Amino acid sequence: MTQVINSLYRQLPSIDRLLREPEITSLIVSHGQTQVVDILREMQEQARLNIREHQALPEWSDDWAASLHRRLERGQTSALQPVFNLSGTVLHTNLGRALLAETAIDAVTQAMRSPVTLEYSLEGASRGHRDRALAGLLCMLTGAEDACIVNNNAAAVLLVLAAVAQGKEVVVSRGELVEIGGAFRIPDVMVQAGCRLVEVGTTNRTHLKDYQRAINADTGMLMKVHTSNYSIEGFTAEVSGAELAKLGMISKIPTVIDLGSGSMIDMTQYGLPAEPMPQDYLNHGIDLVTFSGDKLLGGPQAGIIVGKKQWIEAIQHHPLKRALRADKMTLAALEATLRLYQHPEQLSQKLPTLRLLTRTQGEIRDMAQQLRLRIRAYYSDKFIVRDEPCYSQIGSGSLPVDRLPSWALTFTAIDGRGSTLEKLAHQWRNLKKPVIGRLYDGRLWLDLRCLEDENELSLALFL
Ligand SMILES: *Cc1c(COP(=O)(O)O)cnc(C)c1O
Repeated sequence: MTQVINSLYRQLPSIDRLLREPEITSLIVSHGQTQVVDILREMQEQARLNIREHQALPEWSDDWAASLHRRLERGQTSALQPVFNLSGTVLHTNLGRALLAETAIDAVTQAMRSPVTLEYSLEGASRGHRDRALAGLLCMLTGAEDACIVNNNAAAVLLVLAAVAQGKEVVVSRGELVEIGGAFRIPDVMVQAGCRLVEVGTTNRTHLKDYQRAINADTGMLMKVHTSNYSIEGFTAEVSGAELAKLGMISKIPTVIDLGSGSMIDMTQYGLPAEPMPQDYLNHGIDLVTFSGDKLLGGPQAGIIVGKKQWIEAIQHHPLKRALRADKMTLAALEATLRLYQHPEQLSQKLPTLRLLTRTQGEIRDMAQQLRLRIRAYYSDKFIVRDEPCYSQIGSGSLPVDRLPSWALTFTAIDGRGSTLEKLAHQWRNLKKPVIGRLYDGRLWLDLRCLEDENELSLALFL
């Protein structure tokens, strides 16, 4: 036994010898000596382990250069790999939410390549304010007095609470104590911001008198949170933004709304579900509204705070602002995205999010039918490929009950096994550009709403 093992050990090539092999020398040129040596050491370790445990050389050891090459390539795949999002969810948080408009992409590139006037005023050469240019745009678009931009909407909510109501009570309806996903829960954010949550009303019904009764000398804010990802139906009542704003004005307490997604245009004009707009709440007299940059707005990840100057100034000067501020790439992308809203007639063409959301079922069906004809034969020994109607979701906290009629390619396993479908889903996930579908109702669904390039997908599906 020991003899066999020792003779196997002797067959392992030394690193020095491997480094002299011509194929490996050329890998050093493309990937560098450090990486190559590190991986070769790892391979030797693995080979020794294999010998100890199985008394055999590993399978790959007949061609060290080829295995090294594969390992180097694998190490090169980006952590942010482009994929086909055929999941049926347009704003998919795990897939990076909104795709940016071309003008936003150009703006980011420019801000990366060249120094920019981020906090520099060309008029006075004094240090300007990094949100200044965008604040102007946001005020124009929403009617706000001023605006502040941070990293995401969670940061916006935290900052608003900390700057406006730290050490005080914040009144929120029991029906709006939202968990957005991950660690973002309104009650926990309150604690982090140093505020005391005062819950009023009940899960299904909250009235103005509930807020009124909660008000005392310690009250620092009246807050509403948009119940983005769930809906309470049946015997329900909530206090409108207008009513809350009025109560806030009478009792001299600031009012704040976390809109979550929010939309700066009326979505119903495109046949989409109504989504609350920040400008409406500001018109009603709400002091501050926060919303995300990369949900329905269709821009980069950002948190946008719009509202009264007095409060925005307090927010801009709060020490947390420095920690939560947006970077120049975000601001560049957001500015270009907002500029598209100045020309709303073209928005559904120029803004990818809106373009995908407004695609008609007929248009998607035509695409699905053509694709089915192209790939059907390739899959026919194991799967029945159909094209079928389905529903897409907007995603990212738009109501899950609001569905958009769409069309999908579906794959049903002829052997009827779930494992056959799972294997196919796994193969697709391992493609150079992975295809992300959805397993549902005994079939694998590819909702084509977010497909931009049919040729690219049909080539990818020939595994
Ligand atoms: C999505 C959402 C948030 C968090 O926004 P991010 O931009 O993802 O940080 C906060 N509140 C509500 C109501 C939301 O829908």
